[in-house]
Amino acid sequence: MKPVLALVGRPNVGKSTLFNRLTKSRDAIVADFAGLTRDRHYGQGHLGAREYIVIDTGGFEPTAESGIYKEMAKQTRQAVAEADAVVFIVDARAGLSAQDHDIANYLRRLGKPCLLVANKAEGMTEGAQLAEFYELGLGAVVPVSAAHGQGVRGMLELALDALPLPAAEDEEAAEDDGSIRLAVAGRPNVGKSTLINTWLGEERLVAFDLPGTTRDAIRVPFERGGQKYSLIDTAGLRRKGKVFEAIEKFSVVKTLQAIESAHVVLLLLDATQGVTDQDAHIAGFILEAGRAVVLAVNKWDAVDAYRREWVQRDIEARLGFLKFANIHYISAQKRQGLGPVWKSITQAHQAAMRKLPTPQLTRVLQEAVQFQTPKRSGMYRPKLRYAHQGGMNPPIIVVHGNSLEGVTEVYKRYLEGRFRKAFDLVGTPLRIEMKTAH
Ligand code: GDP
Ligand code: GDP
Repeated sequence: MKPVLALVGRPNVGKSTLFNRLTKSRDAIVADFAGLTRDRHYGQGHLGAREYIVIDTGGFEPTAESGIYKEMAKQTRQAVAEADAVVFIVDARAGLSAQDHDIANYLRRLGKPCLLVANKAEGMTEGAQLAEFYELGLGAVVPVSAAHGQGVRGMLELALDALPLPAAEDEEAAEDDGSIRLAVAGRPNVGKSTLINTWLGEERLVAFDLPGTTRDAIRVPFERGGQKYSLIDTAGLRRKGKVFEAIEKFSVVKTLQAIESAHVVLLLLDATQGVTDQDAHIAGFILEAGRAVVLAVNKWDAVDAYRREWVQRDIEARLGFLKFANIHYISAQKRQGLGPVWKSITQAHQAAMRKLPTPQLTRVLQEAVQFQTPKRSGMYRPKLRYAHQGGMNPPIIVVHGNSLEGVTEVYKRYLEGRFRKAFDLVGTPLRIEMKTAH
């Protein structure tokens, strides 16, 4: 599980600037909450091999009693609750304010690891100007300049070092018994709980009792048609009598972590809503994580023919980057169309785990090159010689040769298509890397 850092501070101290520094991907996930001027953003990054999730929050005024600031304070508290450590940002130029004291009081009572960071400190020496921040009672203040990137790396190291040690990953090890780890992801209200309960209520599916409830990963093991599965929870599932209910309605952090640790993600959409920004963000994250994916459009029973066609076009337009995935149109409530979803899940899993032997890969590569030679780029024409598999889940194909810098994106996509077809790689992202011999 990646640790979670929350960036907290009053408006304009530089939280989003720092957030952008800390996250490589531009594709931050946004939790939309109606009526907010400023949403929570979730992104991910890494420092060397250490990966983390970072949450940017809006302006935080813990004592706000009404209006937008009260709502923003609530959002920030939720982000802080999901975080393993808090980065509290103050403005080195503006100096200490009453709001900073309020926030510090709140954070001190919380008892989570907290790092105090003074932003906009470019050109400042650590002495006098920063001394006043010690008053906050949160220990040493770390000067950074988010805008210029100064001190950010050292600050990140301190924040990651402050984290409690991660729990041993024995859960995952215990599960390497051929189970397909499956995450059902989607916005609030698309029908995740309904689907899971429909599944777990089927007699063809044998659900086992929930393992002990740890803080994060809860997995529901079950078996269907001789295949073992492990359902990774995205919302704090709890068994209540015969049904599972979600403790929290929606947690972006849990969704991200579930996607990370899954083999296959079932991304659920809502036919009555079409593809929303948040759907597209989650889909982008799945692709970035390299996870196998199956799309299911739920509530198909609730829309007419006109709407159905519109939704299909919407998916093509907005989720075109997942066109390697199978799409199903289902009704979790009416139990319609669910069988084929299972077939796609196992197919996607097999594709993600497929072994691609070097001789076959090389043959497919050479046939592809014969059919269509890459264009000359500069002085040289790229020479694609052989290919081998560089990884699984997602499959990575490493192409070896000379002058491969000149291989265009278009040509790479052409190769991807040939490899996908030859190895029946449906439902999994596929990465192709070029390795030039020198
Ligand atoms: P947020 O409201 O806390 O997310 O703050 P923003 O990231 O939007 O930044 C607020 C303002 O501070 C913007 O005008 C930024 O350009 C500026 N800013 C952010 N970081 C720095 C910094 O390191 N130095 C200086 N001088 N300005 C900064
Ligand atoms: P979750 O937040 O993603 O877990 O969504 P829920 O499972 O709580 O479902 C949200 C709402 O959608 C509930 O009112 C469900 O009854 C309704 N719903 C779920 N599946 C379907 C479906 O297949 N068709 C229709 N018409 N409604 C559904």
